Parts: sequence; structure tokens; C-alpha cells
Amino acid sequence: MGLFDKFKNISTSIAVLEDKCSAFFHIVVEDLLSSTEAVIDGRKVILAGTNNYLGLPLRQECIKAACDAIQREGTGTTGSRMANGTYSSHIEFEKDLSDFFGRSTTIVFTTGYSANLAMLSTLVGPRDTVLLDADCHASIYDGCRLGGVQVFRFHHNDVEDLEKRLKRLKSQDGEVLIVVEGLYSMLGDRAPLADIVALKEKYHAYLLVDEAHSLGVLGEKGRGLAEEAGVEAEVDFIVGTFSKSLGSVGGFCTSNHEELEIIRYASRPYVFTASSSPANIAAAKAALSIIRSEPQLRVRLWENATALYGRLKDMGFKVGPEPSPIIPVRCDRIEEAFRIWNGLLENGVYVNMVLPPATPDGTALLRCSLSAAHSRQQVEKIAQAFGAVQSPV
Ligand code: PMP
Repeated sequence: MGLFDKFKNISTSIAVLEDKCSAFFHIVVEDLLSSTEAVIDGRKVILAGTNNYLGLPLRQECIKAACDAIQREGTGTTGSRMANGTYSSHIEFEKDLSDFFGRSTTIVFTTGYSANLAMLSTLVGPRDTVLLDADCHASIYDGCRLGGVQVFRFHHNDVEDLEKRLKRLKSQDGEVLIVVEGLYSMLGDRAPLADIVALKEKYHAYLLVDEAHSLGVLGEKGRGLAEEAGVEAEVDFIVGTFSKSLGSVGGFCTSNHEELEIIRYASRPYVFTASSSPANIAAAKAALSIIRSEPQLRVRLWENATALYGRLKDMGFKVGPEPSPIIPVRCDRIEEAFRIWNGLLENGVYVNMVLPPATPDGTALLRCSLSAAHSRQQVEKIAQAFGAVQSPV
């Protein structure tokens, strides 16, 4: 017996899959040529599988802000937010985020993962209950596990199922927190937020929305699904990440519950990890200012998303439930996903491949994600590459 024996099953599965599609296991971006192009596996490809929705990681304003911050404050903070790792730039960015979301209180965390880990492990405890959408991100599940809260999953985007579970909890002592995402990272669909808010009010629960994929993407001002659905006042907590539309690394939670401040003292993932680096904060701050001043980026992103969704749907691919910057293409068999994924790479297009058990319904997914930085010609090339690898009907 040895420490690594328990990984035998995983190793065997990887070996079998690697035999069929070795490139998938060795994806390295060898050279980043632009926001939408890179060299992968020795080939120049269009990137259609990043979360780079607005093309901001290579924007000069963000790069300059990050470089200036490094010159001024160094490459890392070497401490946690609770110790020496809170710089004035962290506080200023918390104020910026509060102002952007129109909320009283914001906490910046080191990553989006740690933001969810911190919030869900601390806000609710063993006496409380979390009702979460089955398709929620791993960081939400992990946060619940860390805090020991009772968790019930409801079927993805199924408001009736949520209500059934809320009814069952009615007589319980503790508080109830409903957790959903703005835009789901695998299927690219929105939560039915207005209906969920109605249930939250009816059953006196709290609501946390993870807007990781919808910040800068949804809403007239880019504040996410809560803004788009007109229910911001009813959402208690918004969690987000800097690692997608903001093109940096970090996370946050914003709220009108001023008591949120106490999380700083009570939350292990806030207290026991180094804070986000000055460069990451400065880049995210510059990116947020671009999101505020350039709504045309969102328009461009949606034009690209709608165009590709329509083209793939017309070709007969099993795309997600609604047009979205995240477009999943479902494959019934893993072998088919491998074949298409490899074929796309050979045709100069990189997309994500997501295999069960990480996929929502056990089918393999080819996950495309669009960017405002894609040109119309690139969107057309992505569509043509799918056309070239399509199975004959
Ligand atoms: N929430 C959701 C919905 C996500 O998709 C992700 C990242 N994929 C995270 C949180 C974690 O964000 P980060 O990458 O900043 O850790």
C-alpha cells in the first residue's frame, strides 16, 4: 500500500484517454500572439476557449497600470489581507467595486475560488442550509464543505424544484441561503433570477449570485445578471472574479449588508492566504474602468456570440440552450468529442473540451467562448472549422 495507490483508477482512465487524444493532456500556450491567437502544439490557432470575454489582458492601459504597480509596490505583498497584505490599492479597489455595484461593502479576495470558499464557509454554518443549483462551480461546493453547512442541490435552473425544497425547510431553525450563478460556465445559460428572487422573498431566504462569467458581459452597465434582470436590490451577495472579463487574478464579494465586514475576521480563506498582488489589483482596477467607459465592448462580444451560436446551430450542432458568449457543443460520445476537438486544432481553432464527470449531464462538451476581441472573420473561421470536422449525416 502506498499514498498514491488510490489514484490508480484515475491513472488508468488518463492512460486510456491519452492514447486516444494525447494533445488534450499537453496543451501549452507556447506563444501568445494576441488576445485571440496563440501558438499551441506548434500551430498558430484562433483561441475560442478562454474566458477572455472583453480582450482586456493585453490592453495597454491594464498592462501599464500593472507595470506601474510593480515598480511602486513590488511583485508580491508577502502577506495576508489580515496581516501586512492590505495595501491602499486593495482598499481603493474595494471602494471602486462598491461604487460600480452601488453597494455599501466589498471585500477583495486573492482569487474567485477563495472568494466563494470564504463566503460559503463563513456566512453559513452547521445550523443553516444552502440550496444550490446543481451546476454551481466547484468553489461553491468546496466552501460549503469547509464550513459544514447542510447542502441541498436543486435541479439546474428548475424553480419548481427549488420551491419544493424551500417548502420542506420551512420549519427549520437556521437561515437559508440560495446560491446560483449569473451565467453558467458550462452551458452558458442564465439563472431565472426574477423567479428565484420571488422565492427568496416568499420564504425569507438570502440569495448569493456568483457573477464570475457575467460581470462585464450582462447588463446595460456590465454589472451582471442581477442588473439585467432588474433585481439588484433583492440580491444579498454578489461574488465575482477578476480572472475573466477583468483579465487579472483575484475575487470579491459585494453587498449592502454592512455586517459583511466581519467576514474579514472570521474567514480562514481570507485570513490565511497572501493577498492579491499589486499588479493584479492595478490591472483589474484599470479593466473595471474600461468596462464602465466602453459599453461597446459588450455589444461587440454579443454580436460575435450570437453570430457563432447561430452558425453552429444551423449546421446541426447540439449547442447550449440560449445564445451566449459561452457556447457548449454537446457530443454524445467521448470519442466524438476527441475527434472534433483534434480536428478543430488541425484546422487552427482551440476550444475547451470538458469530459464527464465535470460536465453537467454526463455528456462530453466542446466549450467555445467568445471575445469582443474576435474579428468577424475569426468568428467565421471558427464556424468553418466546425463545418470541416462535422460528421457526415
Ligand atoms: N466561480 C465560477 C462560476 C467560476 O467559473 C470560476 C472559475 N472558473 C470561479 C468562481 C473561480 O474563479 P478564479 O479563477 O478567480 O479562482
